[in-house]
Amino acid sequence: MEKIIYDFTVIGSGIGGCAIASKLNKNYNTLLLEKEPYLGGCSGSFKRGKTTYNIGATTFATYQEGLPVYDFFKEFDLKLNLKKSDPAITVIMGDKTIHRYQELDKFIDEINKSFYHPKNKEFWYKVKEISNLFYKRGDFYYNKDNFTKTFYHLAKSIIPFSFYFLLPAKKGLQLFLPNISKEYQEFIDNQILIVAQAKSDEINFMTLLLSLGYALYDNYYPIGGMGKIFDEISKHIPNLKLKQDVTSITKHKDMFTITTKKGNIYQSKNIILNKPIFKQKPELYTDQSAFVVYLSVKSDEIYHHHYQIINDTILKHSISNSIFVSISDYDDDLIAPKGIYSITISTHTKVSYWENLSASQYEIQKQMLQAEIVKLLLSQFPSFYGNITDVFSATPKTFGRYIKRKTLGGIPLSFKNLLFNIPSPKIDDNTYYVGDTVFPAQGWPGVIMGAKNLERIINNG
Ligand SMILES: Cc1cc2nc3c(=O)[nH]c(=O)nc-3n(C[C@H](O)[C@H](O)[C@H](O)COP(=O)(O)OP(=O)(O)OC[C@H]3O[C@@H](n4cnc5c(N)ncnc54)[C@H](O)[C@@H]3O)c2cc1C
Repeated sequence: MEKIIYDFTVIGSGIGGCAIASKLNKNYNTLLLEKEPYLGGCSGSFKRGKTTYNIGATTFATYQEGLPVYDFFKEFDLKLNLKKSDPAITVIMGDKTIHRYQELDKFIDEINKSFYHPKNKEFWYKVKEISNLFYKRGDFYYNKDNFTKTFYHLAKSIIPFSFYFLLPAKKGLQLFLPNISKEYQEFIDNQILIVAQAKSDEINFMTLLLSLGYALYDNYYPIGGMGKIFDEISKHIPNLKLKQDVTSITKHKDMFTITTKKGNIYQSKNIILNKPIFKQKPELYTDQSAFVVYLSVKSDEIYHHHYQIINDTILKHSISNSIFVSISDYDDDLIAPKGIYSITISTHTKVSYWENLSASQYEIQKQMLQAEIVKLLLSQFPSFYGNITDVFSATPKTFGRYIKRKTLGGIPLSFKNLLFNIPSPKIDDNTYYVGDTVFPAQGWPGVIMGAKNLERIINNG
């Protein structure tokens, strides 16, 4: 057992765990324990053969001055090796290809080519206007233990948008884009799904606007993979220990003892758990997760970084009719040797689809969904045919084995999870949560905002 008694011990090195550990380390003796030999959880990278793959997250989104992700990296003056992704994403739907360009007017011209609507300009300007206003408020505080302060801050940041928060997304769409075509609605639904984890019939109009807004900001591709960003953050976390699978935490009078699978014991006055909050809040449990396919492909063509391919029908053993395809940069020979692309493809599934299967049923189901996804990819990228040098996939069970969580993507931002139903990070005076299942939401922008909120609670109550 180490003799040191840490002020804070963060368990888990997802973006939430790393963000809060680096922030607290400025004033407190902080320890970070991670089960795996690499940092990042579902935003990390791993190597197989000569190729590095992004585990889940691939878009370094909304890294723009004045927005939470940028502010966090600026706070530590981190040196990042990035390349702009513009278009942020290219959507392929039947015979239509829509590039989500960052520049608003350029994008409106683009959307008009595929889904002309007389009110397109008004609607997409509204997306940008509301996203700008929301992010620029930036003064978020959420702690159910301090109702008055929480209410005051939420009132300041939420009340100006109350019309949009209370308006169901589908009604809002009808208001702004009357008689929207089924196909256009489908395009919008699939765009929302990758950010909010829910479609327009489950969410409010504010969530819809914010979800559509991300592509209108600076989005980047990290050279060498998302894991490289964690290499930089880790320079600000001196007490970082990898391969530490925490198996028990015991509370004593004024401190905790933390025990790992290998029998290491640490002592800490406070604990921060970077894991889903469902054990504390089972009522919020969501069965939602992801199925991810990883490929190495030989090619000398140049591609955009991100595509969404929308299929006519739901993919079997998934809950989605679209796949999100991220292709490494042509010039990035840190991620894969020249001429080889590292590709990560994800779609939504449910944890329960992968439970209670025999070993052979599980393997067959995994191969079936992988094959269906690869077929969909090849239908749009025929030059990949015969050039795939490696392909394998991860189910919710795989994520459970590696990063100890089967549910992925946070809590869907549906109506029932609005505001006071969202858990706040403080459990008691010495126990906290950070990550994509606590305030405010998922993805790096949400998780980093959550870490900032937690830092504020710890420092000022
Ligand atoms: C397929 C997919 C694609 C995505 N794409 C994007 C994207 O492009 N851009 C974006 O911004 N967001 C994206 N997201 C969302 C984003 O990845 C997550 O919201 C975010 O990474 C979650 O971070 P977290 O802090 O909650 O921690 P997690 O990533 O959940 O990490 C938790 C960490 O805790 C560790 N841990 C757990 N239990 C223990 C234990 N007992 N002892 C020690 N360590 C433990 C795990 O090993 C892990 O490293 C994507 C998510 C998925 C699933």
